[in-house]
Amino acid sequence: MTLNRRHFIATGLATGAFLAAPTVWGQAKAKVVVIGGGAGGATCARYIAKDSEGAVEVTLIDANPIYTTCFFSNLYIGGFREFESLQHGYDKLAGAGITVINDMATAVDRAARTVTLAGGQVLPYDRLVLSPGIDFKDGSVPGWSLDAAEIMPHAYKAGPQTQLLKKMVEEMPQGGTFAMVAPPNPYRCPPGPYERISMVAHVLKATNPTAKILILDPKDKFSKQPLFEEGWGKHYDGMVEWVGPDFGGGAVEVRPDTMEVVVEGEAQKVDVCNVIPGQVAGKIAALAGVTDDSGWAPVHPDSMKAKADENIWVLGDAAAQGDMPKSAFSANSQAKVAAMAIRGELTGSKVFPAKYTNTCWSLIDTDDGVKVGASYEPTPEKIASVDSFISATGEDAALRKATYEESLGWYAGITADIFG
Ligand SMILES: Cc1cc2nc3c(=O)[nH]c(=O)nc-3n(C[C@H](O)[C@H](O)[C@H](O)COP(=O)(O)OP(=O)(O)OC[C@H]3O[C@@H](n4cnc5c(N)ncnc54)[C@H](O)[C@@H]3O)c2cc1C
Repeated sequence: MTLNRRHFIATGLATGAFLAAPTVWGQAKAKVVVIGGGAGGATCARYIAKDSEGAVEVTLIDANPIYTTCFFSNLYIGGFREFESLQHGYDKLAGAGITVINDMATAVDRAARTVTLAGGQVLPYDRLVLSPGIDFKDGSVPGWSLDAAEIMPHAYKAGPQTQLLKKMVEEMPQGGTFAMVAPPNPYRCPPGPYERISMVAHVLKATNPTAKILILDPKDKFSKQPLFEEGWGKHYDGMVEWVGPDFGGGAVEVRPDTMEVVVEGEAQKVDVCNVIPGQVAGKIAALAGVTDDSGWAPVHPDSMKAKADENIWVLGDAAAQGDMPKSAFSANSQAKVAAMAIRGELTGSKVFPAKYTNTCWSLIDTDDGVKVGASYEPTPEKIASVDSFISATGEDAALRKATYEESLGWYAGITADIFG
């Protein structure tokens, strides 16, 4: 059932499974509210509902009726995917007995254990799951604010911003300059900015071969750097220039009015400017009071339970958990651990030791895919990487093609796992 704020009603009464559901620990059916219907939240809602077989009432709140994946959005910019292929609705989750509400959660009252929505509803919970993704850090790139995002898009929350950036790349004047202001750590999808550069270069090579790409980066190294640099040299020789912090990449100001980037006091005119600002947990995590000074929400590594509140779980990008990168793969993996722990608390079901995995694929050019990944286990301090792998430079074309094809299978699999 998908509900909007106007006609929210309790769900489940029409579902046979709910009528027959067992009582939870001798009380009324336990309530789980999940804020954020993305990689972490939708997976968690789905697994709690599926595995508790109606014993737990699950409500999933997302601001939007359609979720557009950031993952593979770079491939859309590169012309390898249609925009619609990134879009997923909540119908199957609603059909599986989850109450889906499309509204913004505006407040969490931890003492009363309620969530308030923009439309005015107040939802009680026994356990609350927060998977709100990211928000941008105010002032992280001088001269840029969300008001400037129509001129200098971030395209780091997928949707109209991604479409805008693609259009700007396609309409760039011949021989023009595409600039990216890359984000500081930690941020969602460590290889994401550099896969994006590859996809922009792929488009420009075909349509605008004298164009230049400038990356202004506050980090002195970045994810899969040797693989990307090898690929840029091989496929887009001379097109991509990376400027790290030693040469001013960490001290960048932008001027949206004049389309300039200012590096160490020197202004340069550019044609497209993709600003990916510094990031923090999605705002509702801070409103709920579960974030710390870093802007992220510390969690217990064995369950993803928030350190600040024993009734709240934080998943995905918003969580400060240790070694796992902020990725959809990680969020989906964490969500299953959380779902098991929550069910265990609410229904007494068995809870197995937490194990987590992640793989991040990136496309550099047609059939040239690379990947990085690891398995993780909880330690008392953090979620720790226990073994890892990464594509090697110099791999042959057949292996790179197979790696790309593996990523297509992953996308199909994970979106089915998230949205049913
Ligand atoms: C360009 C790019 C490429 C990427 N590529 C990959 C990749 O190849 N592989 C990979 O694994 N990951 C990739 N990622 C990262 C991945 O998209 C994120 O890490 C993942 O989506 C995080 O999941 P999440 O559940 O934390 O947040 P999200 O998936 O962002 O979901 C958060 C949801 O919460 C909702 N929300 C937030 N606040 C509220 C509120 N107050 N009320 C109601 N709803 C709210 C939002 O509408 C959103 O739907 C990429 C990211 C980018 C930007």
